Amino acid sequence: MLSTKDFDLETTTVQEMMIDADKVAHVQLQNPLEHALLVLAKTGYNAVPVLDLNSRFCGIISKSNIIEAMFGVERIEVEQLNEKIVKDAMDQDIPTLHEEDTLEKALHVLIDYTFVCVIDQQQQMTGILTRRQMLKQFRNQYYQQRGN
Ligand code: AMP
Repeated sequence: MLSTKDFDLETTTVQEMMIDADKVAHVQLQNPLEHALLVLAKTGYNAVPVLDLNSRFCGIISKSNIIEAMFGVERIEVEQLNEKIVKDAMDQDIPTLHEEDTLEKALHVLIDYTFVCVIDQQQQMTGILTRRQMLKQFRNQYYQQRGN
């Protein structure tokens, strides 16, 4: 865990604050949407990373992606949950970070996203960084500087 005195936007790296991949819930490209919905419901997360069979990062799937994929012309088609797979519904065009990036770079991404995936040179996901973690560090630093 990063101490408040070590927290510096320009020198602290993403690696020092990220949640490691083995603690991150994810789904795979070929999973049916029903599986993704179960993972999201059970974890309580709004979105999780999508990986391929080699743990390479492919995108993010959210509850709203899944609801949108169920829209038919006249009704919500629940059967789509088994007919479509994660690949059909996920968002692909989202930014990522590398472990050696600074928190300054991460800050800009976390303004628009509640979390961002961290990948290595082979595109494999090594962790995630969340907006909550970043805000906690700002809060701790604020109170430490105030002296309480
Ligand atoms: P938080 O800042 O902890 O509220 O998390 C914000 C978002 O990051 C969650 O809604 C999830 O989409 C994602 N997230 C946080 N922690 C995890 C995790 N351990 N596994 C997968 N996704 C996570």
